[in-house]
Amino acid sequence: MSLFHRAATPADVLIRAAHVLDPREGLDTRLDVLVRDGAVAELGAPHTLEAPAGAELLDGEGRHLFPGFVDPHVHLRVPGQEHKEDLDSGTRAAAAGGFVAVVAMPNTDPTVDCAPVLRALVEQARREARVPVGFLASVTRKLAGEALTEMAELRGAGALGFTDDGKPVHRAAILRRALQYQRLVGGVLALHEEDPSLSGVGVMHEGEVSARLGLAGIPSISESTAIARDAAIAAYEQGRIHIQHLSALESVQAVAEAKARGVQITCEASPHHLTPTHAALLDRLDTRLKMNPPLRTEADRQALIQGLRDGTVDCIATDHAPHAREEKEVPFEQAPMGTTGLETAFAAVFTELVVPGVLPLALVVEKLSAGAALLDLPLPRIAVGAPADLCLIDLEAEWEVGEHGYESRAENCCFAGRTLRGKVLATVAAGSVAYRERAFALSAA
Ligand SMILES: [Zn+2]
Repeated sequence: MSLFHRAATPADVLIRAAHVLDPREGLDTRLDVLVRDGAVAELGAPHTLEAPAGAELLDGEGRHLFPGFVDPHVHLRVPGQEHKEDLDSGTRAAAAGGFVAVVAMPNTDPTVDCAPVLRALVEQARREARVPVGFLASVTRKLAGEALTEMAELRGAGALGFTDDGKPVHRAAILRRALQYQRLVGGVLALHEEDPSLSGVGVMHEGEVSARLGLAGIPSISESTAIARDAAIAAYEQGRIHIQHLSALESVQAVAEAKARGVQITCEASPHHLTPTHAALLDRLDTRLKMNPPLRTEADRQALIQGLRDGTVDCIATDHAPHAREEKEVPFEQAPMGTTGLETAFAAVFTELVVPGVLPLALVVEKLSAGAALLDLPLPRIAVGAPADLCLIDLEAEWEVGEHGYESRAENCCFAGRTLRGKVLATVAAGSVAYRERAFALSAA
């Protein structure tokens, strides 16, 4: 087992007359869905299934029920940076966003680079996590890029795979050796792609906006050249790599070319790279819009969207990166990189891409859980006998991001203040109710 969470009562829930959309199961119709003892027990025509005694009734009329989302890329900041986020707050944020599983990055303090640290984290997740959490361990000790971690031991302690996220694996020989070990121990190798010699001291995308603002830029080639190099190394070693938070058109091309050559390569894109662009920084030089990789151009954004359509981009991942308020309340150049994203992922993509007809709803729903398969996790599905991993969403409801605060401990959301459409009403994760929206829970009572 490679996902960990605290024990919770298996749910008995009847979701009545929701529009059930599960593209992988070929479901796109109104149904009653009965969850018994934490598993999907029955699907029936609307208003035909009876709620067993003691079961909770969720009104799905006019709402949509999706397979729960899975995020292969979040920062939960444990151990060591609990002032930004912790396992409880981070997984509450996940549940509030419709996520039924998340995968946490190892760039913590200490780094998750040895089995004792990972084992302690697993135990903590078993006590605190509201939704199942998987953990990636680091590729190199202390993320220093020099010495490989004990990958076999870390796999044995529960690591889903490896990443130095936050930093690239800069030395090609280190990546090569990690791929050689991967052949023995398995697990995904997730890569933050960046050439530090090209990124330099950049704080935003290098282009006309950075020139106008007089800020140091991070060029797209910092990412795309690193991807091209690593795809070549993965091909040579016949290894499997997953590219994190793709941001640039050239990167989409690099991944597409590698896939066409048969390289075992997958990649993710984040809601914030699919929606705003660097032009947003002209309106407000807001540190919540500062992340790595940075917001880029409209052409880059369009390339990512096209990548989702044609399959070059395999999944959507939030790169949820919480920071304390005072850490972000500094001049733009000094602020840490990152935006939170778990609570806004679906609504942001739905509002910006589905409502205007840019992407079909079914594709977005599929891409929001597709990360599971890339990390060797089961895909949530709405099928009799499957564990209940579901989210109930009102696609009509509008809400202002941050108006009622966040479940996350952090407030650095790049969509703060925006009115978005699509509100998560309830999330059932690993068979238990992990989230009920406040007003919805009251109406159900
Ligand atoms: Zn990263």
